[in-house]
Amino acid sequence: MKRNIKDLSFHELAAFLNERKEPAYRAHQVRQWLFKKRATAFSDMTNLARSLRDQLEENFAIQRLKTVRRAESRDGTVKFLFGLGDGETIESVLIPEARRLTLCISTQVGCGFGCAFCATAIMGLKRNLTASEIADQVIEAGRSLGAGERVTHVVLMGMGEPLANYAQTASALEIITDGAWGIGISPRRVTLSSVGLVPQIEKLMAETRINLAISLHAPTSALRGELMPVNRKYSLEQLLDCCRKLPIPRRKRITFEYVLLGEVNDSEQQARQLARLLRGIPSKVNVIPFNPHPGSGFVRPTSARIERFQEVLRDAGVQVNVRRPRGDDIQAACGQLQGEETGLVRRSVAAAAV
Ligand code: SAH
Repeated sequence: MKRNIKDLSFHELAAFLNERKEPAYRAHQVRQWLFKKRATAFSDMTNLARSLRDQLEENFAIQRLKTVRRAESRDGTVKFLFGLGDGETIESVLIPEARRLTLCISTQVGCGFGCAFCATAIMGLKRNLTASEIADQVIEAGRSLGAGERVTHVVLMGMGEPLANYAQTASALEIITDGAWGIGISPRRVTLSSVGLVPQIEKLMAETRINLAISLHAPTSALRGELMPVNRKYSLEQLLDCCRKLPIPRRKRITFEYVLLGEVNDSEQQARQLARLLRGIPSKVNVIPFNPHPGSGFVRPTSARIERFQEVLRDAGVQVNVRRPRGDDIQAACGQLQGEETGLVRRSVAAAAV
């Protein structure tokens, strides 16, 4: 099979063109066709000589994600099931809000971090996505929009742990944010969410200007360790220590995500502990009431408890926001993505049979 030209690095593409005596700016032009102009065939690339287009055609393919299914929620949220070249599938979620259109994208097929409350964890890690598979989610979701509509914000909060697939994620971020040849979404409008891989967080903040979100989920290391196995490698203390030292520009804040699990991490005392923990870090807290999925063993807290948790944080001076679940009727809400339409159903049927 021919190699996907979208997976070539700039240097690889430049070397291929150089061998054919093409000027240096051709690589830039080809990338512009692929990512900015969203070309689907070499014949679209009308500012390249016919002979060069033919040579590209002979050597490479322009692969695309296949839209296997598109489901629309009552609240306007759209979930895409995308098929990859090898038959694996991933999900992306388009979330319309007042003045923005946010796309939540995946970085791995499945996930290997085993967070106790997350549906994607049940799949385990199947494989990393390539840079173009990550960025193509933005391109393909964009194709489905009407005239005048475009994706304005991107969050790397779908399936997988982006920082466990660092190199491909970093290249994808370049494609998504470059204004000259890429998709051209400003890094200020891109947010990456991580389970808390300390060295990669430091690297990312040194190398890019995108926003950082960290999945915290507990105010003590003991409880965090029960919910998130990664805490054994990078403890809550190490993680917060890293956050205190990050070069965060003025007026920018780290987002801490906190999935609120009924009677597990949602007490007033835990809210007070959380506020204390974040003192001195430019931060805001995104409280995500648990989105249920079959067999998880957790429940969403009552509205009264969610309200109280938020109040305690606010009274302690923490900037806090409670996320409304979006698209939960189509299993598109945080933590409900699992990549195949019938997977969970099939698994629960299998579990009932044994
Ligand atoms: N691996 C990254 C990004 C993917 S998850 C990370 O962990 O941050 C995006 C967010 O959804 C994370 O904060 C995750 O903890 C949260 N989440 C997972 N399962 C959830 C569920 N069932 N209900 C609500 N939020 C959930």
